[in-house]
Amino acid sequence: MVPGARIIVLGKQGAGKGTQCVRLSHHYVIPHISTGDMLRAAVKLETPLGQEAKRYMDAGELVPDEVLLGMVGDRLAQDDTMDRGFCLDGFPRTVKQAESLDLLLAPLELDVVIDLQVPTELVLERLASRRVCVDCGTNYSTSTPPRVAWICDICGGEVIQRPDDTEAAITRRLALYEKETAPLVSWYERTNRLVGVDGQGSPDDVTDRLVRAVDEHRRPEARGQ
Ligand code: ADP
Ligand code: ZN
Repeated sequence: MVPGARIIVLGKQGAGKGTQCVRLSHHYVIPHISTGDMLRAAVKLETPLGQEAKRYMDAGELVPDEVLLGMVGDRLAQDDTMDRGFCLDGFPRTVKQAESLDLLLAPLELDVVIDLQVPTELVLERLASRRVCVDCGTNYSTSTPPRVAWICDICGGEVIQRPDDTEAAITRRLALYEKETAPLVSWYERTNRLVGVDGQGSPDDVTDRLVRAVDEHRRPEARGQ
């Protein structure tokens, strides 16, 4: 059995976090926990949580912490994450969420926090061309579309531009990233948990770099699990 891992991937919108977290979750056989995907699923089902979250998401604002902490707390308490770990994507996004995560996990600890680094110019280009499957969340782009026009290769769902990938919402999300999420990088750096990884280049090259970074930083207990 491949040993598990507890990984967080931080990075700007469009840095490729989602795609890379899916790959890491396959490599280490750990659940990929994407708060954006969980929220979009709730919006689609029109649950009360989804109805509350939608207003914030469409505007590119952060969904309130109470909503996120309840949702992530429930997910982390499940057997698969307790046993094998996780690759967290989109959470934490504020120092407050990071502090709450440490409390939720205690006495367990994170293996590594990765800062997936991509210059803003490139991120803007990727977000403008990004397309996503409404059903399974698989990412495509105008330059790498699905085989059949805008029908998901994986599940047959409809592939669309996300309602929050408009210019106004993208600008707002990037501003919030600088204000709320960038400080997290130095916060994790101070506790020696942060590793920077270059997110430029082919997706396969980036995955290789990420796996190397995780393997180097996993605690001995996780390696022997
Ligand atoms: P992106 O990283 O491209 O902005 P996500 O799919 O991670 O996209 O998130 C989409 C939206 O969901 C965010 O703009 C925000 O409204 C909400 N969201 C996701 N994760 C969080 C979080 N940890 N805290 C607050 N809001 C969140
Ligand atoms: Zn799909």
